[in-house]
Amino acid sequence: MQEPRTPTAMITGITGQDGSYLSELLLDKGYTVHGLVRRNSSTSRKRLEDLFHDKTIYDKRLFLHYADLDDTTTIRRILINTLPDEIYHLAGQSHVGASFEIPESTCEFTAMGTLRLLEIIRDLPNRPKFLHASSSEIFGRPDRSPQNEETPMRPVSPYGVAKTFATQMTKLYCESFGFFACNAICYNHESPRRGESFVTRKITRAAAAISLGRQDHLLMGSLDARRDWGYAPEYVEGMWRMLQHDQPGDYILATGVEHSVEDFLREAFAVVGLRWKNHYQVDARYLRPAEVCELRGDPSKASEVLGWKSQTNFNEIVARMVRSDLDLLASQERHSGSSRVSSEMDPTQSRRVTS
Ligand code: GDP
Repeated sequence: MQEPRTPTAMITGITGQDGSYLSELLLDKGYTVHGLVRRNSSTSRKRLEDLFHDKTIYDKRLFLHYADLDDTTTIRRILINTLPDEIYHLAGQSHVGASFEIPESTCEFTAMGTLRLLEIIRDLPNRPKFLHASSSEIFGRPDRSPQNEETPMRPVSPYGVAKTFATQMTKLYCESFGFFACNAICYNHESPRRGESFVTRKITRAAAAISLGRQDHLLMGSLDARRDWGYAPEYVEGMWRMLQHDQPGDYILATGVEHSVEDFLREAFAVVGLRWKNHYQVDARYLRPAEVCELRGDPSKASEVLGWKSQTNFNEIVARMVRSDLDLLASQERHSGSSRVSSEMDPTQSRRVTS
């Protein structure tokens, strides 16, 4: 007798923070997980390392496939061969600061990459459910706070514009072509796996390194910006819940609480017993041509319809990230004997430093 097919998911952007947490969540739930990985990138797979070590998972239920988001024929072939029940589209150029330096490729992958994927799905024999990881950046400088699913989109960065296009296309394919397609409108969500060019991880890494005497100071852009920071593993759970609901829909995933970059700095340095003001300098290179000053989401719909709520509060997120960076530095020291920390390479490799 044939074994029943396990639920199958495809994740684009599987090597990223959210992709790795989502893989773990889905594998725990018994899914077979396929992930798309950029071919010509040096993207590290270290976030998936624990899964690779588990032979029962890696050999049988986790599969990685090379495909860039502009490689339509390859993606189509992979989807026809794997026939996923659910597609989680997390891939794209995701750094707002970098998008000012590389607007064209940001739109190519973040905007057009989403449209291409939707077009491929349109022709598939099965119609997988589709989740697009949208972003609070679509609201740009909103005229109300907190924002909800009805707030007008007014993006102010190339990334925000690309995400707005992808969000509207996802909506359109749902409404016009009958897709089960959802937008998870995610506010900033952090974790020890956050990329080092995002402000939170940059700060926690620096606080850890400075406290160990391995870095002198931290160069920063605007400290006034305010964000609604949540905990990433909870956000991928929200995405999963969206595809399990009987109706497609768009949902804000947020905490509803905002803090400034300065609050984050203060809290992170307090974890290691230091005063942040003694260790930072403003550097104009980290200021953006247009700044999103304040974002705070209203997660009521996700709470009422999906029973989703963020759980981990701001202080706990900061503390977990700092502690993880302390551990990481200690283990690097044991392995390499290195004593200094260099900041992550500028993601745009160009004049402006965006990390
Ligand atoms: P974003 O909200 O997606 O842009 O997430 P980021 O973590 O990249 O930035 C959050 C906020 O921190 C933005 O308002 C940035 O302008 C501000 N910020 C201040 N200094 C820095 C810095 O050195 N690096 C980054 N990435 N952001 C900074």
